[in-house]
Formats: sequence, C-alpha cells, structure tokens
Amino acid sequence: MKKGILIVISGFSGAGKGTVVNRLINEYDDYALSVSMTTRSPRPGEVDGKSYFFVSREEFIKRIEEKEFLEYAVYCDNFYGTPLSYVEEQMEAGKNVILEIEVQGALQIKEKHPDALLLFVTPPSIQILKDRLYSRQTESVDVIHKRLAQAEVESRHMHLYDYVIVNDNLDECVKNTNEIIKAAHSSTVRSVEFIETIKEELKLFTEGE
Ligand code: 5GP
Repeated sequence: MKKGILIVISGFSGAGKGTVVNRLINEYDDYALSVSMTTRSPRPGEVDGKSYFFVSREEFIKRIEEKEFLEYAVYCDNFYGTPLSYVEEQMEAGKNVILEIEVQGALQIKEKHPDALLLFVTPPSIQILKDRLYSRQTESVDVIHKRLAQAEVESRHMHLYDYVIVNDNLDECVKNTNEIIKAAHSSTVRSVEFIETIKEELKLFTEGE
C-alpha cells in the first residue's frame, strides 16, 4: 500500500480553513485529521479530544520535553502542537494526514518532511477576511486585532507554501483542494519507491532475456 502524504493547511484566522478541512474529511475517504494539543481555553461548542486536546501549560511543556510533538508553536500567547504518534500511524495506514496548523509549525514540518504538501488558504480579499472575523462573534475586538496583526506576519511566509487556495466559493474551494492533493500524490518526488520498483522489474526482465 502506498503511504499517505502529510498535508499542511494554514491560512489566516477567518479564512475558512477549518470548514475546508472538515468538508475534505467528511466527503472523501482518504483523509485523517490530526487533532492538535493546545493550552488555549475551549471556545463555546468545542469538544475536548475532537476540536483539540485542551491541556495546561505545565502538561504541554512536559510533553515537549518528552518529544511527543511532530511540531509545536506559540500563537497569540498559547501553545499549539501536533502529537506525533497519530500522524505516523495514519500515514502508515495509507491515509493523507491533514495538519491544520499555523505558519511557524508549517515551516518546521517542511524542514523535517520535505515531501509534505503545504497549502495556504486565503479569502479573496482582506476586507472579506475582516468581515468574516467580525461576523463570527466568537472573539473580542481586541483578539480580532491581534489575529489580523498575526495575519500580516503570516502573509510574509505565504510564498513558501506549495499552493495558495483562494476560498471564495466553498464548494469549488473544497473540490480544488482535493484535486491538488490528488495530483501531488502522483508527483515524481512522492513516487520514488514506485519508480524504483518499475525500474527494478524492467531490469530483471531485460536481463532475463
Ligand atoms: P485557533 O485558536 O483559532 O483554534 O488556532 C490558532 C492557530 O493555531 C490557527 O492558525 C491554527 O491553524 C493553529 N494551530 C492549531 N493547531 C496547531 C498545531 O498543532 N500546531 C501549530 N503550529 N499550529 C496549530
């Protein structure tokens, strides 16, 4: 079985990346979502173990020391990290594992796993981003300002991603994202083992003649 690929999805807070990711998981069989660990407090409706594993700062730091994260970062004063074991298990099982993480973590992944696929989700314009953040009504104006300032920092790294995904029409965006991932699967850099097998088999065949 072909090993799954590691897919990193980042994007500005309010770009709709969570929705895109949920749709991919629900509509296609080949994806597994990594549930991150965080020290931030749960928002209304968020479920421990599903949205995130919510832990204390002490617990998070202990897990860093025990090397339990594939990557971790500090974002708006809180820790966020990807537990390593689940990602490894699912990739071995042939699933494409999606990490919905911010830029610092994404760049750590790119360094450790050059064959990971990095996607950056953005709204068509910053005015639309602002409108979405305000209409969400889950954060104070202060937090929204912090997130927009964070978006400015993140935009400086967008060019390091493999693809920019513009989330204008959600249906189209989900379809495009799935197609990009499918195409990435067939890229030569992600088919090294397959290419070697084909070459080996042909070599054996020609030698046997
Ligand atoms: P939020 O607080 O809005 O759920 O997430 C804040 C940011 O942290 C988002 O950009 C989200 O993608 C990112 N994030 C969530 N989980 C992780 C993680 O495990 N690692 C890193 N580096 N970022 C994460």
